[in-house]
Amino acid sequence: MAVPILDNHVHLEPVRGRHVDSVREFERAGGTHIIISHMPYHEAVVRIADDFRRSYDVTISLKDRVNNETGVKAFATVGPYPAELLDLEKIHGQDEAKEIMLRAMDIAAEYVKDGKALAIGEVGRPHFPVSRDIWHASNDILQHGMRLAKEVGCAIVLHTESATPESMKELAEMADRAGLARNKVVKHYCPPFVLPEENHGLMPSVLAGKDATKAALAKGSRFLMETDFLDDPRRPGAVLAIATVPKRTLALMKQGLMTEEQAHKIHLDNPRETYGPAFS
Ligand SMILES: [Zn+2]
Repeated sequence: MAVPILDNHVHLEPVRGRHVDSVREFERAGGTHIIISHMPYHEAVVRIADDFRRSYDVTISLKDRVNNETGVKAFATVGPYPAELLDLEKIHGQDEAKEIMLRAMDIAAEYVKDGKALAIGEVGRPHFPVSRDIWHASNDILQHGMRLAKEVGCAIVLHTESATPESMKELAEMADRAGLARNKVVKHYCPPFVLPEENHGLMPSVLAGKDATKAALAKGSRFLMETDFLDDPRRPGAVLAIATVPKRTLALMKQGLMTEEQAHKIHLDNPRETYGPAFS
């Protein structure tokens, strides 16, 4: 039986990128499942809360196209991308911008409830230094997202500053305050934080570079693999290629560095633990 292979975090570009063709490349390399993360699109600029619907619909339609046109099983996550708070602030000022982001989180939860999206994501805080006000507003918006995830019974995928065991602990405690189980929180773009004292119960989605994957496997198999693929043909090599997760998984298996059991855990059991039975 073929081993399941999930890329837990990719982006597809509806106009400038190769979208479905990119996923075909993933499929040819052995990939079976993919999670397409929402991001802001040039084609669907957001100015008011309701604009997020049009923007999320781009991600949902890309997911539907992949499911219709390839053999890969695709899922989508939707949510207000953290840096959008800064763009909205320029138009509306801080209070109104925060309101719009909170409402965008509500709409994301609605998309999950309606079965259009698998989880809320990627959401959180900007990965670059921001003012104290933006930091606090981002945390409030994230806390709201975690409460919604708890309510809907779904997972939430975090985009934050570079992870440290301390920041993972802080985020885990935010989940506790929302009543959201820690294993429903995915830290995207995560270093190989596989040990409980490194991830504090959050699900690490490890960037699938060779060294990071080997470092993760040396500590255990409770992690996900991702490329954070950007689907931007003008910037080849800027991020990991879309075939990386299947190629890396199959190469490690061939070298005896990943057992079939570990592959099943990483690519099927772990995503099921986090995303629930909707992931299949
Ligand atoms: Zn991303």
